[in-house]
Amino acid sequence: MTPTTYTEHDRQIWEEELEEFVPARVFDAHIHLFNPQHMGQGTGRTWSHADLETLQSWAQRLYPGRETHFLVLGSPAPGIDVQAHNDWAIQQVSQDSQSRMNRLVTPGCNVEDIRHDAVTHGFIGLKPYRLFSVTGDVAQCRIHEFLPHEQMELANELGLWVTMHLSRHHGCADEHNLEDLAEFTTRRYPNIKWILAHCARSFTYWPIRQAIDRLRDMPNIWYDLSAVTDVRPFITLFSKENTKRLFFGSDGVDSTYFHGQYVALGRAWQSLDTSRFDLQFPHCDGRPILAIYEQLLSMKQAAEIAELSADDIEDIFWRNATEALM
Ligand SMILES: [Zn+2]
Repeated sequence: MTPTTYTEHDRQIWEEELEEFVPARVFDAHIHLFNPQHMGQGTGRTWSHADLETLQSWAQRLYPGRETHFLVLGSPAPGIDVQAHNDWAIQQVSQDSQSRMNRLVTPGCNVEDIRHDAVTHGFIGLKPYRLFSVTGDVAQCRIHEFLPHEQMELANELGLWVTMHLSRHHGCADEHNLEDLAEFTTRRYPNIKWILAHCARSFTYWPIRQAIDRLRDMPNIWYDLSAVTDVRPFITLFSKENTKRLFFGSDGVDSTYFHGQYVALGRAWQSLDTSRFDLQFPHCDGRPILAIYEQLLSMKQAAEIAELSADDIEDIFWRNATEALM
């Protein structure tokens, strides 16, 4: 996908629905830089080349006229050259004094290298990922299995952020995850600031409804709203969480700048990229729109239902992240 694949249907949704909803300034707290040169051979998934300039040109296409800055996350691709990727991120993000970055970390990373990158090069946080779990089980791993305790100790010492895409079948509703987060935030690592990605990995109504009463009571928990396209998790978060703990994020480029969405199927979900299917639309004239616009539409409708104010919405898109991360 490139910004040129934006269609007239996308434009219609922007003009009729989103133009009035998205504030003048956007801080995207979940987006990825990616350079295919950092990949080894035969690693499966293909990713778009996305440097900072690409992210800005996408932002101008998606949110025309808005000032946009980013919390850039390392891209957790299996087989990636972690050092080369992080060095390139340093060079890219240095071009924008109002953007920030989280360092890609795997359990194989040396703690002193991470410390050096944070202290010298300005990484404000870490981006671990379940695909690097030492157990080899990417679906059912616990936090410490892909973010080792020695790295959490460092993050605690330096007061770093951690963007955490929770693993395990039930995501934030999983009892191990909830116990681990409670232990880490209240006792073991009180200085780590957690951003629970994708509405605490709640792509359906269910996990966040189960977990919200416990997450809400934990200190140092924030959420990014990226890639969730179902309206229901937003209704729960907007009506039950402190809206100061919510950060807008897009998860661009490859995870949401496609025509489709993340479809909830009961308590399961699946990404649906409409370009991969021969879908027919016999009953309607409309056509698929970008998943990031599906997300924004759901955020807008949930904000109406939860009766958020214009101030709350500006907080979510800009002030919460810029005040917390700068
Ligand atoms: Zn992501």
